[in-house]
Amino acid sequence: MSERFLVVVVDSPFETAEREQSILSRIGVKVQKFNCLNESQIIEAAGNANAILCDASPITQNVILNLHKATGIVEYGIGYDNIDVNAATERGIVVCNIPDFITSEVADHTVALILALARRLHLMLPSTRAGEWNWRKFRPINGLDKMTAGIIGFGNIGRQVARRLHAFQIEVIAYDPYIPFKTIETLGAKPATLEELLMASEIVSIHVPLTKETRHLIGKEEFALMKNSAILVNTSRGSVIDQEALLASLRNGRIGAAGLDVLQREPPEPGDPILAPDNVLVTPHIGWYSEQSSSRLQEYAALEAERILTGQIPRHPVNPEVLLKKQP
Ligand code: NAD
Repeated sequence: MSERFLVVVVDSPFETAEREQSILSRIGVKVQKFNCLNESQIIEAAGNANAILCDASPITQNVILNLHKATGIVEYGIGYDNIDVNAATERGIVVCNIPDFITSEVADHTVALILALARRLHLMLPSTRAGEWNWRKFRPINGLDKMTAGIIGFGNIGRQVARRLHAFQIEVIAYDPYIPFKTIETLGAKPATLEELLMASEIVSIHVPLTKETRHLIGKEEFALMKNSAILVNTSRGSVIDQEALLASLRNGRIGAAGLDVLQREPPEPGDPILAPDNVLVTPHIGWYSEQSSSRLQEYAALEAERILTGQIPRHPVNPEVLLKKQP
């Protein structure tokens, strides 16, 4: 079949786009894969694409104004804060994400960070490697079953984290102004305000999208409310936390420890001070990943592009108003 469409992968976490190509070949799509880092590279690569797939690259208003043929943008994942959705809506371009398909992996990774920090594994590894055999050095470690965990953002991932924490007999409280109290209670958590949650929790875990409202949601004033033993875990987006205030709070003992899968700047500059303190455990934005989830992501992104290009209704539009406008 001759190629009818061009789909450009402007950046992706995957080495190749062979899986996307094999799915999209059946409707006559040529897939081109790039690793664009900035606006001009994206415009050059994607200017004539019928649809684009992206991960973290900046799909700004300027980029969108220079997409001459695109009818859809598909994000490889859940968070789409790298895309100017309003600009896309203005131009009638539908933006889709892939929710649900990596939820378990992120929840597992979150709980792994919580357990590692609570049991102080991050300090034990260098110690045993150095030939020490001294459990006393790691005291005090508190029992998990008397702890309270505060979940900020009680959506898909926050709820999965809560389910896992219940198995450790940890009491779960949740702050999410967009979810009815009743729903939070039905899912086994106690609704709280942000202040109540920060004051009551030994563990604080963040699961909100990055928006204007959530940028620096946790800063100096919020750290001041937290317990000085508190473990803070963030697997959502780095900029939800004021990283300078976090660093200061970790250094001066205002909070106990932090587990971060996401940073304000990714990848961090070599020597970024957030990587240094003993009480920080940083992982390289890997929460989404397992062999199974990564293969699902490629498949679902390609299928969503196929739906857009063949005039079907995409499964997960984040600006569905574009589709309503197109209806006759
Ligand atoms: P979701 O949309 O199901 O849940 C987000 C929840 O946050 C919603 O319930 C929403 O009401 C709530 N929320 C929004 N604004 C809030 C605010 N100001 N205060 C409190 N709650 C607020 O999303 P999800 O699937 O649970 O994913 C959450 C985030 O995790 C994503 O937006 C993404 O940025 C991040 N993520 C990270 C990885 C990773 O690899 N580390 C992978 C996937 C997703």
